[in-house]
Amino acid sequence: MSKAAFAEILKQTKRAVVNALFPNKCQACGSFLLSDYEAPWKNISWRELREIPMEELFFRLMSPFLCRRCITGFIPLSPPFCPQCGRMFYSREGANHLCGECIQTKKYYHAVRSAGVYDGPVMALIHAFKYSGRIQLAPAFGMLLYGTFLKEYGDRRFDLVLPVPLHASKLRQRGFNQAALILRQWEKLITETDAPMPPVDLKQQVLVRQKKTISQTGLGREERKINIKNAFRVIDASRVLNKRMLLIDDVLTTGATADECAKALMHAEAESVDILTLARAD
Ligand SMILES: [Zn+2]
Ligand SMILES: [Zn+2]
Repeated sequence: MSKAAFAEILKQTKRAVVNALFPNKCQACGSFLLSDYEAPWKNISWRELREIPMEELFFRLMSPFLCRRCITGFIPLSPPFCPQCGRMFYSREGANHLCGECIQTKKYYHAVRSAGVYDGPVMALIHAFKYSGRIQLAPAFGMLLYGTFLKEYGDRRFDLVLPVPLHASKLRQRGFNQAALILRQWEKLITETDAPMPPVDLKQQVLVRQKKTISQTGLGREERKINIKNAFRVIDASRVLNKRMLLIDDVLTTGATADECAKALMHAEAESVDILTLARAD
């Protein structure tokens, strides 16, 4: 037997043992998965992240966490959508155009872009990540978000990338800031590859959440706005002045949180604030 053939048998055996000992389940429907445990995010270059269509990228990165049926439920961001708030229009025809909400209400942020719609498999994965502590998802999420960044913002210059901050008490309760955890994967990419990327504020020394708010879940649009009002404060204005900022979060729902962050940054005289999230509620 050749060395290569022997190595392959060893690999297959190891895989079978791991699958028997640690059966993996689909994070959306709970059915058992025969995953090969080869982290797909390790074998993908930033150039591929930029080139591969979003649907295919989602399939590659999320295959260890979703079954074949559930994974096809992903809806990537695609035109026509509102160029400002990133909301996709139900009608799948025509060009991008401002939505009624964005025409009516002035936004502090420049634009929002997301990998896809907050629904089906994406919702299940984000819930598993945030509320069941499946932090193994962070590398896949990080790469998916970076792919979105390259596709949507690849030709835009940014001076600083920062996660939407959590209040200190929420951080203690959850144990991690999901946006910061995703961003940590970007920092790894910067150090390990030649991926083009703006600096990342992982220590969260620029923007803080000063107001303890109740969860936005279950609140209507107006209630959300009131709940989150003046929740954020810039603590290092020198890193904001005349700078182009990119804010990261896992989900954008009504956009009230993102716009409050943008308000604090714009009041500190940022040049512009853009938002990038994994998912966008429709
Ligand atoms: Zn499934
Ligand atoms: Zn809009």
